[in-house]
Amino acid sequence: MDDLRKLDVISPALRQELDKLAKGARILELNGHGDRIFGHVALRDPEGRGFWLKRHNISLGEVFDSRDFVLLDFDGNQKHGPGKRHSEWPIHAGIFLARPDLNVSAHTHPFHSVIYSAVKKPLGSVSGAGKPPPRFEGTSEFIDTPELGHALAASLGKDAKMALMRHHGVIFAGRTIEEMVLAGIEIEQRCQQMLAVASADLPFEWPDADELQRKFGSTAKRVGGPSGLWDYYCRVLARAELQGDPRLSHKCLL
Ligand SMILES: [Zn+2]
Repeated sequence: MDDLRKLDVISPALRQELDKLAKGARILELNGHGDRIFGHVALRDPEGRGFWLKRHNISLGEVFDSRDFVLLDFDGNQKHGPGKRHSEWPIHAGIFLARPDLNVSAHTHPFHSVIYSAVKKPLGSVSGAGKPPPRFEGTSEFIDTPELGHALAASLGKDAKMALMRHHGVIFAGRTIEEMVLAGIEIEQRCQQMLAVASADLPFEWPDADELQRKFGSTAKRVGGPSGLWDYYCRVLARAELQGDPRLSHKCLL
């Protein structure tokens, strides 16, 4: 269990970052991304050794700290950590290899996004901003080979930070942990909104694209930027933990 600490493969700065990623996983659990023990988050290793992947057999809400991650190289070889490797590790290898600008990635099965992943229409937006995220249509099966990982990552193109996966779920990513978590919350909210629109038998009009653009441009100022929102989600998480939310583990389960 203490291999990682004994081997000193995790610098204090990296351990802090992995602890923060664990917190991000628990925030995602509270925001619609929990699906039993499925779904994972990953961080590019700052020393170029590959990436740190949440270990298998625990939920996002049970990711407690840096011990809940395993270090894999980009070929999927497990370099450190006693946890079990998720079979869909090629998702993260694919994203990190294709997009040097992204350092944090996730794959989950949020309820509304999974339903929307079956919709043959680009994801619209009621009050948020941004272009429709790409939809990976290659397969609905597990992304468990490097070829599939590369194909999925390619669906992000050069600048997208999120994508729907047909009949499966979503991927989302960011330069930072905050960006990744906020992207994940955003795509699930958008899917929930669009499904509500589709189910309501009401005359509906789309927002003006320029208005959305102006509003989106000022949102960062209004909410204090990504860190303002991140701090909010951390406060909610802290209160949920204090109340003993059963989805959230209060210790490392290794
Ligand atoms: Zn999956």
